[in-house]
Amino acid sequence: MVLWDFDGTLAYRPGMWSGDLQEAIHAFDATRNISLEEIRPLLQTGFPWHTPEIPHPETAAPDVWWEHVYRSVFADALGHFGYDAQQARAIAERARERFVDPSSWRVFDDVPVVLADLARAGWRHIIVSNHVPELPAITRRLGLGDVVTTIVNSAACGYEKPHPEIFSVARKVAGHAEALWMVGDNPVADIAGAANAGIDGILVRTESPDVPRRCATLYDVVRIVEPPS
Ligand SMILES: [Mg+2]
Repeated sequence: MVLWDFDGTLAYRPGMWSGDLQEAIHAFDATRNISLEEIRPLLQTGFPWHTPEIPHPETAAPDVWWEHVYRSVFADALGHFGYDAQQARAIAERARERFVDPSSWRVFDDVPVVLADLARAGWRHIIVSNHVPELPAITRRLGLGDVVTTIVNSAACGYEKPHPEIFSVARKVAGHAEALWMVGDNPVADIAGAANAGIDGILVRTESPDVPRRCATLYDVVRIVEPPS
C-alpha cells in the first residue's frame, strides 16, 4: 500500500488559498486588485491543519467545515480589506465554489504514469490528506478515481496530519498492510507524522536535509518502493 498526500504531491491549485481568495474578491468586486502578498499573511492561521493537535470530528459535514473556516479565517481576512459581514459571506461563498472546482486544480505530470505503474506491480493507493470536505469529488474529477482505492481525508475523519489518529485510520484502511509507505511533500505533516506511526516516508518535490528519503519526482519514488531486482 502507498499512502499519498494530495496537495503538493499528486495535485496542486495554482495560487493555493491566497489565489483562491484573490480570485473570489476580484469576481465579487472587479475594481479591487489585492495582491497575493497582502492576502497571504492573513491565511496563515485558522485552517484546521494549522492546529493539528486539536481533533475536530464535529466539522465533518461540508457546510459545517466551511462555516468553521469562514469564522476562523475568511471573516477576519475580508474584514481587514474593508468588507462588511454580508459582503464577506458572498466573497467566501465564491472562494468555496472556486476552491472545490476541479478545473482550478492540476495533476502533476508524473502522477498518472507512476500510480498506474505501481498499481500494475501490485501496489494499492490511498490518499491521506489534510483537505477540504470535497476532496473525493475533486480527486474523481481529476481522473484519479480509478487508481486511488480510498481517501482518508482530515475534513471527514476530524484529525489533521501529523496527528497520530489520522495515520491510525490510514493503517486500518490499508488493512494493516506489511508493506506501507507514506509519500508527501511536507516533512512534518507527512514524513514525521508517518514516522511516529511507524510508517516509512518518502519526501517529494521538497528539499529537507533532515529527511532520509527524498525524491525530486514521483518517478524516483518507484525506485525506492519497487527497487529494480
Ligand atoms: Mg502536501
